[in-house]
Amino acid sequence: MSQAERLTRLGEILVELSRSPIPTHFFQTLGDEAGSVVPFDYLAVCLQDEDKRGYMVHTLAVPSDGGIGERLFEAHEGVAGRVIRVGRPALVADLGAEDDGVPDFEGALVAAGMSAALVVPVRRGFEILGALFFAGRPPVVYGEEDVQIATLLAAGLSASLETSMAYQALADERSTLAAVLASTADAVIMVNQAGVVLLANAAVRPMLGLSPDLVTGRPLLEVVDYVPLRQLFAAARPGLSELPLPDGGVAQAALVAVVTPFGEPVGLAAILRDISLLKNLEQMKNDFVNAVSHDLKSPITVIAGLADLMMRAGPGDARLQTRLQDIRDTAQHMSDLVTDLLDLGKIEAGLDADYEPEDVVGLINEALRLVTPHAETRNVTLQSELPAEAIVSVARTRIRQAFANLLDNAVKYTPAGGRAGVSAVFSAGADGRATLTIRIADTGIGIPARDLPHVFDKFYRVQSDATRGTAGTGLGLAITKSIVEAHGGRIRVESTEGAGTTFVVELPLARGSGEQRG
Ligand code: ADP
Repeated sequence: MSQAERLTRLGEILVELSRSPIPTHFFQTLGDEAGSVVPFDYLAVCLQDEDKRGYMVHTLAVPSDGGIGERLFEAHEGVAGRVIRVGRPALVADLGAEDDGVPDFEGALVAAGMSAALVVPVRRGFEILGALFFAGRPPVVYGEEDVQIATLLAAGLSASLETSMAYQALADERSTLAAVLASTADAVIMVNQAGVVLLANAAVRPMLGLSPDLVTGRPLLEVVDYVPLRQLFAAARPGLSELPLPDGGVAQAALVAVVTPFGEPVGLAAILRDISLLKNLEQMKNDFVNAVSHDLKSPITVIAGLADLMMRAGPGDARLQTRLQDIRDTAQHMSDLVTDLLDLGKIEAGLDADYEPEDVVGLINEALRLVTPHAETRNVTLQSELPAEAIVSVARTRIRQAFANLLDNAVKYTPAGGRAGVSAVFSAGADGRATLTIRIADTGIGIPARDLPHVFDKFYRVQSDATRGTAGTGLGLAITKSIVEAHGGRIRVESTEGAGTTFVVELPLARGSGEQRG
């Protein structure tokens, strides 16, 4: 065979080698095909073990009488050990005369009648993975041309080994991921951009009554009847939401956009967590608070009324008068607390079902009028900068209450001579929907940074010298937040201690009320 013919044949073998990432496949190819470019009676791949203590011999084409040790040959043993150590090919004319030879490798080959050997390193970059070991019986002898061809075969083998390792790593990663997905109690469903289900884990069965095998690979809208889930994917709005479950429970649904590491969109994934138990607990807690608040309301009113009566009718003893005043004030505080708790219960239970499109600017102005007397007694200037009209779908008394709370706080937490005000502008919200952004700002005592994350929590009040003398229940902002969120809006706070506070409320404008007058 001419050198040109050998090279052509070699090309074919290299292509063949790259066909499969499975080592048994390309080892087989090498054993079957390499003989047509480099003659041999024995062929083996010697691969270093992971901690480079030595090498294992994988025989690809066996001499008739075998006898090669199935053990880890140490790095100093055999011709292969030397080639791996020094990283250069070895051409051997007489295996029996080799100093490095070991009885259960070179010795076994000699016993099988072989004398010539050609051993080339298999490298990956600067690293030596192992060696390719050819041996033959006379008349086989190896020369420089064989070294070149064998080196190219070794390069092909190295590429195959590399692909195989990458493939294995990927397969391991995939199976880890699959195991995590299969064992999690959260239901995970992923669809591609065409709406075809790419993945549905085992938890979709108990939670949604879907069979993962039946839905995977099919269009979601064809295989899923459950309306809330269809709506979740149809709306395609990434974020958290609550999803009713077919069994009457509730799941928290996280919808996320899936993108490749290169930023190309793949589709949408929903992760559903059953929160029915939490919801029930919360409901029980709220029911309890509501029941207790309700039962407290009447006796407190009676106490306050009686204290009032005694103050007016009783003897003019000054000490008794102060005691009665204390009773009155305490009863008033308890009454405020109970009213706030009952309000919160109603809002959280979603009892304000009658939402009507209404002009919020009018409601904000009403709230301003409500707090004006308070502002005048405290000598705080009230300002407003509002558009003429903005239509929002609202529960009117609640929204007015929310703004009254915020404005009242602005007045309450601003020292005499300060300013408190409200302004509103139209903008496009995060989801592109037209939004009214309202700012309630004051030049008051501000909120320390460490308290900022908590001011919307129930019963949270900032404890400082500046707030000491100010009465309150710590429920106003919790109520306000619930109201704003019940209207599909958002609220946040910005503040600098000692300089002032701004509460920012975003309310989505009623659909179809595009003609807002500014
Ligand atoms: P409270 O009944 O105590 O006013 P809120 O829930 O309305 O309860 O407010 C919680 C806490 O947040 C208040 O106790 C106060 O410390 C702080 N806070 C609220 N609004 C302001 C404001 N405009 N300026 C400074 N602090 C405020």
